[in-house]
Amino acid sequence: DDDTVYTVQILMSDTGGGHRASANALRDAFDVLHPGKFECDIVDIYTEYGPFWPFNGYVQGYKLMAKYPWTWDLFFRFGETDFGLWLNEFLLTTFCYEPFKECMNRPSRSTNKRADMVVSVHPLCQDLPLKILKDLDGGKERTTPFVTVVTDLGGAHKTWFNAGVDKCFVPSDALNKKAQSRGLDPKTQIVQYGLPIRKGFWSTTTNAESSQQSTSNKKRIPFFSKPKNIINDKVSSNSKDKLREQLGLEQDLPTCLVVGGGDGMGGIVPISSALGKKLGSMNDDDDDDDDDDDDDDCPNYQMVVVCGSNKEAKSTLENMDFGPGVQINVQGFVNNMDEWMNAADCLVTKAGPGTIAEASICGLPCMLFAYLPGQEEGNVPYVENAGFGKYSGNPEVIADTVFSWLSSPETMESMKEAALKAARPSATLDIARDMADIAFSAKTKSSTKEKVLVAVR
Ligand code: UDP
Repeated sequence: DDDTVYTVQILMSDTGGGHRASANALRDAFDVLHPGKFECDIVDIYTEYGPFWPFNGYVQGYKLMAKYPWTWDLFFRFGETDFGLWLNEFLLTTFCYEPFKECMNRPSRSTNKRADMVVSVHPLCQDLPLKILKDLDGGKERTTPFVTVVTDLGGAHKTWFNAGVDKCFVPSDALNKKAQSRGLDPKTQIVQYGLPIRKGFWSTTTNAESSQQSTSNKKRIPFFSKPKNIINDKVSSNSKDKLREQLGLEQDLPTCLVVGGGDGMGGIVPISSALGKKLGSMNDDDDDDDDDDDDDDCPNYQMVVVCGSNKEAKSTLENMDFGPGVQINVQGFVNNMDEWMNAADCLVTKAGPGTIAEASICGLPCMLFAYLPGQEEGNVPYVENAGFGKYSGNPEVIADTVFSWLSSPETMESMKEAALKAARPSATLDIARDMADIAFSAKTKSSTKEKVLVAVR
C-alpha cells in the first residue's frame, strides 16, 4: 500500500556525540531509500524519561567521567562483571520500567500509534526495552521488530548485545566476535556492514573503488539504485583541489588535519603545538641551496586544527608561532567535516569511532593520540592492524611520526590504500535497507494475521 508510513522509534542517549549522529544518519538513509515512507522518532530515553538521578543525568555523568578517564574505566569494567550487569538490569527494571514504557508507547505523528519497529543505537537500550516491548505486544511473545545498531567500532560494552533481538548490526570483526560471545547467532542475528555515519561521508572523491571492495569481500551486494547518482554527483564535484580552494587552503602542500573529539577534548593544544613546530621548522634546510630570501617564507606543509567546541584551544593556537615551514589554519567546530577530511592528506585525532570510520572512507592515515578506556581502547588495534595508523600519547612522537609519513609518498600511499580497504561507505544505507525490509515484512505479517482474525470472527 503506497500510503503506508512506517514508524520507527530510535532509542539512544546523548552520552558522547556518536549515538545521535548515528540515529540521524539512519533517518537520512531511510529518506534516501524510501522517501516519505519512514517516520523516525529519535529519543534520548534516559534524559527525557529517566525518573530521577542518576537515570536522567547520564549525559552529564558521562561527560564528567570522560574528563577523568580512570573513573570511566572503573565504571565500564564494573558494568561488565556479572554483578554489574545484574545490578544495572535490576535498577533499570525497578525504577525505569514504567516511564520507559510510556516512552515506547507514545504515539507517532503520522499514525497516532506506537512505533512499528524499535531500534537501539545505545548500549543501555537493549535489555529493558526488549522486556517492555514484549509487554506492549501482549505479554506472550514480542512481535514488534527490535534491532540493535552498534555505534562503537573496535570495542563495545557487553550491554550492547542481547540475544533476544531480531538483528544486531556490528561494524567490525572484533564486535562480531563479541556479539557471538554474548549468545547472538552469527547466521540469523548478527549482520556486519560497518558503522552508520553522516550522509556527507556516504560518498567521497576517493571511495568509489573502496565501496566495491567493501561490498565484495563482505556478504552484501552493493547499493546500486538511487544513491548511486548521489555518489557520482559527489565524486565529480568534490575534487581535492576544488575543496582546498573552497576552504581557503593552499593547493600543493602536504596537509595534516588535527581533530579533537566532538567536544574538543584530548590535549589538542600540546599535540598541535609539537606538530606545528616540527613542520614549521622544516623549510630552512630545504631552501639552503636557494639564494632567494623569499623562499624562506614559503611553507612546505599545511596543518589544519579543528578544535571542536574548545574555544580556549582555538584562541591559544591562533596566537602561536610555528615557524615559516608550515601554513596554519585553526577552526572551531565545523559542520563540514567531510570537506575538511577530503581536503587533507592525513589525520591526527583521538580514537573516536565516528572520526575513524569517516577518515577511513576518505583514505586518511590516522595518528591516534587518545582514547577513552573501555569502548575506545579497541579502536587503536582496529586502526593499527588494518595498517592505516598508529597510536601515541606523546606529542613529540606524534610530531615525528606524522612528519615521517608526510615526507614519504610511498608510506602515505600504502596507508591510504589500507584506510580505503577498511572503509565501509555504504554501511549506513545497507543497514537502513535491511531495517526497512524488516519493517515491511513485520507489517505484512501483522496485517495477514488481522485479516485471518477478521475472517474467523
Ligand atoms: N565533529 C564535527 N565537527 C567538529 C568536530 C567533530 O562534525 O568540529 C564530528 C566528527 O566528524 C565525528 C564526531 O564529531 O563524526 C565525533 O564522533 P566520534 O565518534 O569520533 O567521537 P565522540 O566525540 O562521539 O567521542
